[in-house]
Amino acid sequence: MLKVVEGVLASNGITIARAYCLESSSFKISKKQINEHSEEISRFQDAIKQAKLEIDQIKERTEMRLGTEKASIFSAQLLILEDPEFIGEVTDKIKSENVNAEYAANVIADKLVSLFEAIENDYMRERATDIRDVTDRLIAILLHVELPNLDLITDEVIIVAEDLTPSVTAQLDKQYIKGFVTNIGGRTSHTAIMARSMGIPAVVGTKNIMEKVKNNDLLIVDGEEGYVIINPTEEKIKEYHEKKKQFELKSEELKKLINTKTVTADGHSIELSANIGTPEEVQNVLEHGAEGIGLYRTEFLYMNRDQLPNEEEQFAAYKRVLEEMKNKPVVIRTLDIGGDKELPYLHFPKEMNPFLGMRAIRYCLENKTVFRTQLRALLRASKFGNLKIMFPMIATLEELREAKQLLQDERDVLLAEGVLLAESIKIGMMIETPASVAMADHFAKEVDFFSIGTNDLIQYTMAADRMNENISYLYQPFNPAILRSISRVIEAAHNEGIRVGMCGEMAGDNLAIPVLLALGLDEFSMSPSSILPARLQLTKLSREMTNLKKELLHLQTAADVHDYLKDHKLLSC
Ligand code: PEP
Ligand code: MG
Repeated sequence: MLKVVEGVLASNGITIARAYCLESSSFKISKKQINEHSEEISRFQDAIKQAKLEIDQIKERTEMRLGTEKASIFSAQLLILEDPEFIGEVTDKIKSENVNAEYAANVIADKLVSLFEAIENDYMRERATDIRDVTDRLIAILLHVELPNLDLITDEVIIVAEDLTPSVTAQLDKQYIKGFVTNIGGRTSHTAIMARSMGIPAVVGTKNIMEKVKNNDLLIVDGEEGYVIINPTEEKIKEYHEKKKQFELKSEELKKLINTKTVTADGHSIELSANIGTPEEVQNVLEHGAEGIGLYRTEFLYMNRDQLPNEEEQFAAYKRVLEEMKNKPVVIRTLDIGGDKELPYLHFPKEMNPFLGMRAIRYCLENKTVFRTQLRALLRASKFGNLKIMFPMIATLEELREAKQLLQDERDVLLAEGVLLAESIKIGMMIETPASVAMADHFAKEVDFFSIGTNDLIQYTMAADRMNENISYLYQPFNPAILRSISRVIEAAHNEGIRVGMCGEMAGDNLAIPVLLALGLDEFSMSPSSILPARLQLTKLSREMTNLKKELLHLQTAADVHDYLKDHKLLSC
């Protein structure tokens, strides 16, 4: 019988390839008494040689893909494997206690790691992670356990994993990684969002894919319906090759709309923009015909490294995006770290509820040097394009005012230093806390634009963690509570004459687009791959659906909204 696993559709497209299972790297090391220590020592020496070869290979590939700086962590790992003290201590332990190599290496590694972890210095503590990484590799070789390593993949595969962090996802090499499937995660987890912007088909939140799939099983990931077929029949494979062809043909057809404007059937211009996480994505954005960038999530610039990016690096990244967008509007959001986006090198204390904790603007206002560095880089980049700056997770007017004041202070400093800046920069805020919805009328007087972040707004309004697949039934974009919030925010903004965009995932959802249009949204920002289908859809819709708005806002449940849309033939647009 055909084995099919269902999950949450994270990123569109169809892919057929072999599975590469990413097992977690914890292994059992037992202490064994050995008779012949010279044999054990030579096993240890061979493992060191093998580990060096693997790290060399990873270093080379990282250098090619991400540059010398990112690859330099592997030079540090090589040094650990050459360290006479480390080698000497492991060898002595094998000799003096007649124990197996993996046990000796693990004891010495533990000792080293705790030594480094105890040092009150971030840089040294980071070295502890390197030591653990490299000694795990060594021990895995001694135990003949294959350590998962995305950098060693040189065949086309589909990654199967318990979870992928956003930073690992950001490093996936599209040449080989043709899709991924995970046990946990929801559609608005940042891993899913990254997959969409990279155009890698993905299904997440399957709960048990890891139990059902083994390495090298043939998989079909159906990123249209949200399921995975394990070891399909010849017939199924043929059917899916055909489905894949149809998907590609449809994408080709949509390309005709790349250079057209987005105008509704009744003549309203709508701005269709893209969400990005890295400057490298800008080309993809332009190829999908975006009219601007509605959200640049700058936190990815802070990931996959061992220290904060300095002002120059940030300036270069922002300038590059602005220049490549050639005066099209670019909304750059200040650092939104925390929640599911961690920066291990900042050593955040463990929190009970990270999404309700030290996140985004809260972190920036507590760590002003980090924030000021980013603001300076943004201001300096402003003269290279059409920059708009946006603050995330605002809950109170005081937070907004303080953030704006800091921006103003940095502006004054730069001007006094004689730096050229754009004359005026529009300042906006994300509406993603229920508090900002309730106070939208006041906020609208103090910013130039709003952008509704439904990924968070839904989770906070419904009190339903966006990452938790067990309560995903509560994650309801169509719940009238959400629609009323959106409508209230749009009205408050329009009363003050400011525009409202949406950069949460709801903006790119073809079911939501007619509703958002009826509620009066001015700008939709989404994954690049959703832009052309959205443009086609919007050209067939009218904005003047006033009745639709009135009636929708009086419905009682998300199911009622669905039925209403179906009855009015708005689901199939
Ligand atoms: C949102 O919350 O809708 C949003 C766009 O921000 P993020 O997904 O990065 O939290
Ligand atoms: Mg958010």
